[in-house]
Amino acid sequence: MYWFEVVVNVPLYTTFTYKSEQALKRGQRVLVPFGHKTVVALVWRENLAPDIDRSKIKAIETVFESEPILNEQWCDLIDFCARYYHYPIGQTAFCALATGLRQNKPLTTKSEVFITLSELGLQQPAPAQAHKQKYALWQMLSGQTHALSTLKQSYPQAKKYIDLWLEAGWLIQVNPSSLIATTQNKPQLNSEQQQAVEAICCTNQTFSPFLLFGVTGSGKTEVYFSCIEQALKMGQQVLFLLPEISLTPQLLNRVQNRFGQYHYAVLHSQIADKERTQGFMDALTGQKQLIIGTRLAVFTPMHNLGLIVVDEEHDYSFKQEDDLRYHARDLALWRSKQAQCPVILGSATPSLESYHKAVQGQYRLLLLQHRANERSKLPKIHIEDVRRQKLEEGFSPAAIRLLRENHQKGGLSLVYLNRRGFAPALVCTDCGFSFGCPHCSAKMVLHKSGPTLRCHHCNFAQVVPDSCPSCGNQDLSALGQGTQRVEETLSTLIPQAVVARVDKDSTARKHDWEKLYQQIEKEQVHILVGTQMLAKGHDFAKLSLVIILNADGGLYSPDFRSAERLFSELMQVSGRAGRAEHAGLVLLQTQLPDHALFLALKAHSFTDFAQEELDKRQQFGFSPFGHSIAIKADAFHIGEALHFLTQVKNEMIVSTDVNVLGPAPAFMMRLSSRERAQLFLESQNRKALHQLAEQFISVLTVKSKQYKDIRWSIDVDPMAS
Ligand code: ADP
Ligand code: ZN
Repeated sequence: MYWFEVVVNVPLYTTFTYKSEQALKRGQRVLVPFGHKTVVALVWRENLAPDIDRSKIKAIETVFESEPILNEQWCDLIDFCARYYHYPIGQTAFCALATGLRQNKPLTTKSEVFITLSELGLQQPAPAQAHKQKYALWQMLSGQTHALSTLKQSYPQAKKYIDLWLEAGWLIQVNPSSLIATTQNKPQLNSEQQQAVEAICCTNQTFSPFLLFGVTGSGKTEVYFSCIEQALKMGQQVLFLLPEISLTPQLLNRVQNRFGQYHYAVLHSQIADKERTQGFMDALTGQKQLIIGTRLAVFTPMHNLGLIVVDEEHDYSFKQEDDLRYHARDLALWRSKQAQCPVILGSATPSLESYHKAVQGQYRLLLLQHRANERSKLPKIHIEDVRRQKLEEGFSPAAIRLLRENHQKGGLSLVYLNRRGFAPALVCTDCGFSFGCPHCSAKMVLHKSGPTLRCHHCNFAQVVPDSCPSCGNQDLSALGQGTQRVEETLSTLIPQAVVARVDKDSTARKHDWEKLYQQIEKEQVHILVGTQMLAKGHDFAKLSLVIILNADGGLYSPDFRSAERLFSELMQVSGRAGRAEHAGLVLLQTQLPDHALFLALKAHSFTDFAQEELDKRQQFGFSPFGHSIAIKADAFHIGEALHFLTQVKNEMIVSTDVNVLGPAPAFMMRLSSRERAQLFLESQNRKALHQLAEQFISVLTVKSKQYKDIRWSIDVDPMAS
């Protein structure tokens, strides 16, 4: 008889003991009786001598024997992740698993077979053209490798012929890893790129973190591709992580052209469950060598990991903000250490954490200081002081003049405003009443369709009333600009121009953005209005003017990271201008023309900005000079959440190494009808910090039972305050 600790998907910080007649492996999927149900579990480790009443230990019911077993490295990753983020082990494992593996039934995955004409096949005469299907199929196969399943779907008769030809030995199966297609038409790398690739590729299977810091358009992607190609050629697997917003059809086209379609699997939340599960298993078994995905792809089990790339490493979307609050970039670093392989963190505006580590020598800094296309210059950035100017619907006279001129010259312009909807507030002109969300501490945003008022935090929507609910006045006024209003304004200011808006609302349906993109490519659009959706990863050859409206908002946020976020956003959007041969101009409207952040932007100097910002953070002990863990609680009333956290805090034996700040209401106190409070543990000493967090968890667990509706959570290395 054997005993095993298994993990199941429950919110408890523990494993469970079961027995089995057969020896099982770590990572094997099984079914166990749990309460009154049968649930899926993963075998976690053998327990040689359980110190509980052995007669009460239940037996594992079913073992999914035909499935590939999750490997040791994957289980170790989960162990680390659960420990570091203080999240229940079972829930961590099940968050990380592909959906198909969370189910109570054995997995049916297909293993793709690839075929091509054999030597013998190549000697055969082609079938007569009169046999249309047979001929077409033969043509497809000539000199090409195809997935059997795709071929069989192509023509009704295909299956019959393929079976015949396989039997005759005219067709043979090929090993997918021999299929790495690398196109000839790749650019000749410039010397900076070449140096970066050499540094990365000669690390000989050791943990080597690199920060690839390159201005927009400097050819970072080409550096990744060269390194990926080398790893694939050596039979290694590559994990390529990028933010949701950068995972565009354009990027996937580039990948496909470079590496051929059979080698990569794409894993992100919009991919259907079945396909994602297949990709997850193909990575585990080594059938797929290149895994491209958003943050959740960091949990993909790999067979033979040889390189990790994290593109736009500074991007906030790598951090998951609910349930298991992990940071995919940080886990990527851990994984590359585990696999003893290089990891490339790439960005034009690195996170201050990564930049600091690179400056300190913990990561190797690789610089790309020039745009890859020699004729493409960085844009000129003009700071427009709008303090004493009369603006027309948010536009300064200079902005309007530039937009008109650029349109006359046939250039494409971009107006950037990170606020969707028509107007951020609707107010009564008489009593000053403004519409707030009944569920959140936030104003409702006016949207044109309807028109409706919508909360951008909880999605609550209501029709715009005829009169002020407070005084009955019928004169309601929309204050400020959103993208919809800017779109409307531009159509009046420059009626000849075709204006297209790109934001979450205009691209809500699946192919909206693709269609818009094609229109832009065909030069059917003259002015783009958009939010940060437009800031990243899209190259438009004719884009020569960028107008940034109202960037100041980002400077007033209480979050110590807001300046970093704003700088990177502005750098990204400025980088859109002048990517091809057209010289670019950026006009940034502000009330704070002398602000250091804008001056650094004007000088295209991330380094100036980073130095100044790091000095500030050092003074206050903020990240990367100190570490923190947030403990959050929410309840129906803020009083209850605060009371709960105070009670918990009072029971702590606080070490002198850790500061405990709060509890205090969260900056946005009310969200979706829950009121939120938090406290922060801060320290220079990670170990002391995590020990205190452990202590907190045991008290949080016990105390929360004494409250009616408290929910609590832990956020390690929180990104937002
Ligand atoms: P980044 O990822 O840094 O924004 P990309 O890799 O997308 O930059 O490159 C920007 C543009 O420059 C692309 O159109 C790319 O094809 C081109 N490019 C990159 N490297 C080279 C090179 N060595 N020679 C010529 N063109 C290049
Ligand atoms: Zn709301």
